[in-house]
Amino acid sequence: MCREARAPRYRVKDRVNLLFMEIDSKLGWYHGSSSLAAGGLFAFTKSHLKKEWKVMSNVELDGLRGRLDQINDQLLALISERAQIVQQIGVVKEKQGVPKFDPEREKQMLERLVDANKGPFTSATIRSLFKQIFQASLDLQSDEHKKALLVSRKSHKEDTVIVLPGDVTVGGLSSLMVAGPCSVESELQTRTVAAALQKAGVRVMRGGAFKPRTSPYDFQGLGMDGLRILREAANEYGLLTISEIVDPGHIEPAIEYVDIIQIGARNMHNFELLKAVGEVNKPVLLKRGLAATLEEFLHAAEYIMSRGNTQVMLIERGIRTYEKWTRNTLDISAVPILKQESHLPVLVDVTHSTGRKDILVPCAKAALAAGADGIMVEVHPDPATALSDAAQQLNIDEFNTFFNDVKASGLYR
Ligand code: PEP
Ligand code: MN
Repeated sequence: MCREARAPRYRVKDRVNLLFMEIDSKLGWYHGSSSLAAGGLFAFTKSHLKKEWKVMSNVELDGLRGRLDQINDQLLALISERAQIVQQIGVVKEKQGVPKFDPEREKQMLERLVDANKGPFTSATIRSLFKQIFQASLDLQSDEHKKALLVSRKSHKEDTVIVLPGDVTVGGLSSLMVAGPCSVESELQTRTVAAALQKAGVRVMRGGAFKPRTSPYDFQGLGMDGLRILREAANEYGLLTISEIVDPGHIEPAIEYVDIIQIGARNMHNFELLKAVGEVNKPVLLKRGLAATLEEFLHAAEYIMSRGNTQVMLIERGIRTYEKWTRNTLDISAVPILKQESHLPVLVDVTHSTGRKDILVPCAKAALAAGADGIMVEVHPDPATALSDAAQQLNIDEFNTFFNDVKASGLYR
């Protein structure tokens, strides 16, 4: 480009100088004459030629630009045609049950292009340009795949609103507060929390009966007895229940005790469990895995939906990072991304994501501001004596202050 622009300038200069010499000799003026008339004529001639050249070079530039536009159009038509062929290949491969990405074939295509390359681009540039074209065609196929997912907003534009017994809704106009102990420990403990939640206006009580603990020697939960205690306390205080199920064999017996089945973070990748809860008619709260990407999270939800159960709620509960000042890292960006990608309700568990009581209010507010449909928080009558997560559960007064602060923010609908 620079070279092209500089060359004509030298040519103009040469042409002007030649012309001056010709005029000089024709008029018989002494070369270098400083007469005013000669100066005027030179100046006129110079500017006239410059204008003439400018018009000529603009015409040339327009011509070159026009050619570039044409080439761009041709390239666009070609890469679009190429993408269509790749899609056709994808359909054939799908029928054959073979993967769409074939690294060997891609290598061959790149080598063929590099061999055919006569410049001016280097082989590395050719490789990187075509690699991008190949990747874009592959991405197109995964976008289409995404389009077909049941969890995707592309297949279901409206927000899914889950209607629970007692007309409690999740994902609709009002926010949902889910609160309760980490583990169901006793009738008294559970009833005390239930009474406090009812007083505070909470409609859904959580409580773990099957506890997936890091150590096998830690409290494992009361099992079916725990579910019974939770149900009875909830019935007494007009609450709905949510509890984690870890074994496909427990789903059937648990159904009469829980209004929402929770799938915990450690089981987000337990595909047999996901398939099993996909086969029952009961809302499911799916927790994001400890180190799951959002794509994996949505695919886990897809496992449930693909089996027929469309009542799925997603809950961000923090992911593992190198940060030590929180138990996990609350990924707030997950909320708007999940809401954008999926039509399912999205909640945020502020307790397990942060593991610290002093930042629950701002984190809950941030979650709601980011578009969360609900919040989960752990509450225990006496957290110090709790059999699990003693350090992070709120006592009843702390919960009331927390809930009032969240409501006062105006973000809780
Ligand atoms: C829980 O909610 O009781 C729990 C164990 O959380 P998570 O699965 O997110 O660790
Ligand atoms: Mn807990």
